[in-house]
Amino acid sequence: MRFRNVQDVTEWGLCIGCGACAYICPENITLVNVLDEGIRPKLTQSPCGQCDNCLKVCPGINVIHSTERDRGNTIPDLRKSWGPVLEVWEGYAADAEVRYAGSSGGLASALALYCVEKRKMHGLLHIGPDDNIPLKNKTVLSASRAEIVARTGSRYAPASPCDGLSMVAAAPDPCAFIGKPCDVTAVTLARSLKGELVEKIGVTIGIFCAGTPSSQGTLDLIEKHGIDPETVEEVRYRGKGWPGKFSVKIRGEAAPREVVSYMDSWGFLQEYRPYRCHLCPDPTSEFADIACGDPWYRTIEQGEPGQSMALVRTERGREILHGAIEAGYVILKKADPSILEKSQRDVLRKRGAVWGRTLAMRIFGIPTPKLEGFSLFENWRRLPFLHKLKSTLGTARRIILRGYYKRRKTDFANRI
Ligand SMILES: Cc1cc2nc3c(=O)[nH]c(=O)nc-3n(C[C@H](O)[C@H](O)[C@H](O)COP(=O)(O)OP(=O)(O)OC[C@H]3O[C@@H](n4cnc5c(N)ncnc54)[C@H](O)[C@@H]3O)c2cc1C
Ligand code: SF4
Ligand code: SF4
Repeated sequence: MRFRNVQDVTEWGLCIGCGACAYICPENITLVNVLDEGIRPKLTQSPCGQCDNCLKVCPGINVIHSTERDRGNTIPDLRKSWGPVLEVWEGYAADAEVRYAGSSGGLASALALYCVEKRKMHGLLHIGPDDNIPLKNKTVLSASRAEIVARTGSRYAPASPCDGLSMVAAAPDPCAFIGKPCDVTAVTLARSLKGELVEKIGVTIGIFCAGTPSSQGTLDLIEKHGIDPETVEEVRYRGKGWPGKFSVKIRGEAAPREVVSYMDSWGFLQEYRPYRCHLCPDPTSEFADIACGDPWYRTIEQGEPGQSMALVRTERGREILHGAIEAGYVILKKADPSILEKSQRDVLRKRGAVWGRTLAMRIFGIPTPKLEGFSLFENWRRLPFLHKLKSTLGTARRIILRGYYKRRKTDFANRI
């Protein structure tokens, strides 16, 4: 099927809420955080104009590796399952405050801080909590240390950093970008369409991602623990220790309440991930210059300070990461590439299932995203037999039971 615009993408369940379409077509597209789905584009006039720019920048339907990404200088054993990787590192932000506040070792924030303070970048485009609506995130261009530190930490709720690309285009100097893998893909697509971004994206830093739960997830988690969402002033999903706790600050109380461990909160929230996240071929930011994740390959002791894993994916990434080490912003040691698979077994299995899932969709005649350069069939073939079966038959079952074989209208009124 041919998509006409982002309404088609959304109604077939393929939008992941990156916000790039709202950047490329602000006249026709606004973003709405639909409570039980995620951030979704709403056309302000229908039919819209004649172009298909919103589709060209959409990572919901295009995730394509160009052939020159596999230049031969990447680690051969990692290529098929993890994309282009030049170097694997483990370490943390040298600044103790950034390390403590960060999701894992504060590495993403420390690298961005180095870019702003030492590489003459104007700021960092990323997301942080929305001060006015605590259950929401907002896109921000952070230009100071205080702003970057205040926005550390993974937020397991919808966020659309690409809707802020116009701030980068208007900035006097290049900016750093931090986002999920699909956000980074959108930046790559937007950069190839909009000349104004070519020189302005100074570096892309991707975080690993196994899926973004809807805001309904956070709401239900808060209520499950007996807290009235109306009284919530601030939500923090992790960080302030590794991996940290899901904590909530109630209006009028002096300190945030530690509600539940990170592991338990993720166990609850992951059930709220949208369908498109189960078709994701890129959990480790294969299009970023540098990708950061958790080195879960060993048991983490109680009270242990945070550690991050970094994958250098491009020469630009190498230059920035080595510069940050030399300037004393990050403390890193080279790691054995095998820690990647040991740390991220679940996302590897999820990535492996994508071929089987899209096969089931094609059998039902449902539109699928264009996913190229991920060796999806080979990764699927390596799955245990039962997982292979589950990826196809389980998806077929879900398609029938949940009605995924037909378009689903987005309920924009059910918003947060
Ligand atoms: C939805 C989601 C799923 C994740 N799944 C995995 C996983 O499967 N495996 C794994 O190892 N790690 C996962 N993470 C965590 C993250 O990849 C690691 O914590 C990573 O090591 C970054 O840690 P850091 O301390 O370097 O980041 P920090 O220095 O704390 O910086 C985090 C940065 O991420 C940005 N950010 C936070 N939430 C979002 C969001 N929802 N969308 C876009 N940008 C955001 C912030 O603006 C900030 O700039 C996930 C994070 C999120 C948000
Ligand atoms: S994935 Fe991004 S670009 Fe595509 S429709 Fe959704 S918000 Fe728009
Ligand atoms: S799982 Fe993939 S598609 Fe879903 S939010 Fe993460 S990077 Fe985006």
